[in-house]
Amino acid sequence: RPQIALFGMSIDSLNMQESVTAILEWCRAPRERRCLYVVTPNVDHTVMFQTNPALRDAYAGAALVLADGAPVVWASRLLGRRLPERVAGSDLAPALLKRATADGQSLRVFLLGAAPGVAERAAANIERRWPQVEVVGVLSPPLGFETSVAENQRIYSAIAAVQPDLVLLGLGAPKQELWIHDHADQIQAKVALCVGATIDFLAG
Ligand code: UDP
Repeated sequence: RPQIALFGMSIDSLNMQESVTAILEWCRAPRERRCLYVVTPNVDHTVMFQTNPALRDAYAGAALVLADGAPVVWASRLLGRRLPERVAGSDLAPALLKRATADGQSLRVFLLGAAPGVAERAAANIERRWPQVEVVGVLSPPLGFETSVAENQRIYSAIAAVQPDLVLLGLGAPKQELWIHDHADQIQAKVALCVGATIDFLAG
C-alpha cells in the first residue's frame, strides 16, 4: 500500500472508500493468527507519538494508519506529500457498516469499550440502521482493566466465544492502541478498529 512519512509516522495514503474496501476484504478472508488493527491518528496522537515509544511500537504493528485529523491532511499537503482525504475513525466505522449492508456482506461485530449500557444502546442502533450487521457481543471493561490479567482473560474469552469479523475498540487514545498491540495475539477477531468515542456516538 502507498504510504507517506509524516511526523515520523508512516500514514497510509487511502481515501475513505479505499479504506472501507480494504477492511471489508480482511473481514471476508480467513482470520489471521494475530488480529489486524487500524489506527487513525489526529493531531493529539501525533503529539503523543513523539514522546511515547510504546505508541510508536503500536503504530508500527498496525495494518492501517489513517489520517483522522484534517490538520494532519493539511500538513501532508504543505509538505508536498499529499494524503487524499481525512479518514476519521468516527466516520470510518459507520461507513464500513453502511457499505457492508449495501453490498450484502454480513458482518459480525463486537463492541469493546465505552461506559456500561452505552455499547448496548449502540448495538441496538447499529442493527436497526444496518441490517447486514450483527452485533455478536458487547463488553465495557471496568476502569483499570488493562493491568488486570483476569480482566484481560475475560475479554479474550468473550471474543473467542463469538470470533467476530470486526471489533470496534473504544477505549480512548492511546489506551486502545497500546492495548490492541499488546493483546492482538489473544484476540480471535479478524480486524479491530481503534475508534475512540465512536461507540458513544453510535449510541446516539
Ligand atoms: N473508555 C473506556 N475505558 C477506559 C477509558 C475510556 O471504555 O478505560 C471509553 C470512554 O467511555 C469513551 C472512550 O473510551 O467511550 C474514550 O473517548 P475519548 O473521547 O477519550 O477518546 P478519543 O476519541 O479522544 O480517543
